[in-house]
Amino acid sequence: MTGTKQSEVNIGMVGHVDHGKTSLTRKLTGVWTDTHSEELKRGISIRLGYADCEIKKCPECEGAESYTITNKCECGGKPEVLRKISFVDAPGHETLMATMLSGASLMDGAILVIAASETCPQPQTKEHLMALDALGVKNILIVQNKIDLVSREKAVENYEEIKEFVKGTVAEDAPIIPVSAHHGANLDVLLSAIQEYIPTPERDDTLDVRMHVARSFDVNKPGSPIKNLKGGVIGGSIIQGLLKTGADIEIRPGIKVVEGNKTYWKPIVTKITSLGAGSAKVKEAQPGGLIGVGTELDPSLTKSDALNGSIAGKPGTLPPTLEQMTIKPQLLERVVGSQDELTIEPLKTNEVLMLNVGTSTTVGITASARPDEVDIKLKLPICADKNDRVAISRKIGSRWRLIGYGLII
Ligand code: GDP
Ligand code: MG
Repeated sequence: MTGTKQSEVNIGMVGHVDHGKTSLTRKLTGVWTDTHSEELKRGISIRLGYADCEIKKCPECEGAESYTITNKCECGGKPEVLRKISFVDAPGHETLMATMLSGASLMDGAILVIAASETCPQPQTKEHLMALDALGVKNILIVQNKIDLVSREKAVENYEEIKEFVKGTVAEDAPIIPVSAHHGANLDVLLSAIQEYIPTPERDDTLDVRMHVARSFDVNKPGSPIKNLKGGVIGGSIIQGLLKTGADIEIRPGIKVVEGNKTYWKPIVTKITSLGAGSAKVKEAQPGGLIGVGTELDPSLTKSDALNGSIAGKPGTLPPTLEQMTIKPQLLERVVGSQDELTIEPLKTNEVLMLNVGTSTTVGITASARPDEVDIKLKLPICADKNDRVAISRKIGSRWRLIGYGLII
């Protein structure tokens, strides 16, 4: 793709609340460049946690120092664009784990942000790393942030804590990069590590397109005359294949239909009238970044995130809509994410669970729990394939805690 190039990879910003995810995202996307970090479409007031940046390299310089997001290098050289990337800034607060899990399903890699000024690990440092592991996100970088707040000694001590914490996890060999998001220190090293450790996955354009919907809206101002009404808009990330303007699109599970005492979900089919990638209009969109899809749908169907969690793609090619499913669970040993780490008991029959598949969040009741297979009845149906990953959370105390994952069989 040429011209206003679309971002080609999604990198999650994860970690405990207040450790600096949003500050770091802003430093890498908003302050030093003027064309990025724009909302999906002008005029939409909903902000998604996506922000784009172009990683550039100065042809005159060597090593990490040659990496930048600016248009002019300190040496006077003109940096060249290597890659456009999107950050998906995940909420770090413990009550927003479902949102984090939805985001994690869109991440090709992740930056785990850990504040050097607190002991490691903090509860959501652990829970987010577990979530990456559960959802199969493998390319991980660790940022040791707020390095400006600690002495050299403290920084080393914290580094040792981080090393100890990641031992035996998916992030065991992840590089740990000291940074100050606040002062913009060491970001060139971070950019070069992103280039090295979070490559753009191989994409196969011939696969049937699949988009995970993370947002949906009505972009019309209240009281607009009917003839000016714009169709419903959905936003999210393409997981595989290409979306094209003018093509038909199916959205599943779709709309709930109640007929007498029968309830079922009817897939929606509509036409793509426009495609936005970041802030640019495109004719064709590929995986990477936030894609906004304008449709001919009645905007009342898409308003207020009504279609969040659905899957969109070419009509007739989407996975089935499941009202119940059987999964093969892999539970963790202990609950992470809270101060007291309880042992995780096996799943029981008639238990209520929160389940995240792709960007969808649903609640399910276990109909039958056997040691390695569990049947679950879903409150809201999901559209998913065999072998898709399901993040499993159980209510412990007053909130949902991630206890493991399962594969749909
Ligand atoms: P998030 O919850 O992880 O998104 O954290 P924020 O980016 O909102 O940052 C939380 C607080 O930490 C804010 O007050 C930031 O200004 C501050 N902060 C973030 N990064 C740094 C840093 O590198 N150094 C210092 N001193 N403060 C920072
Ligand atoms: Mg934040």
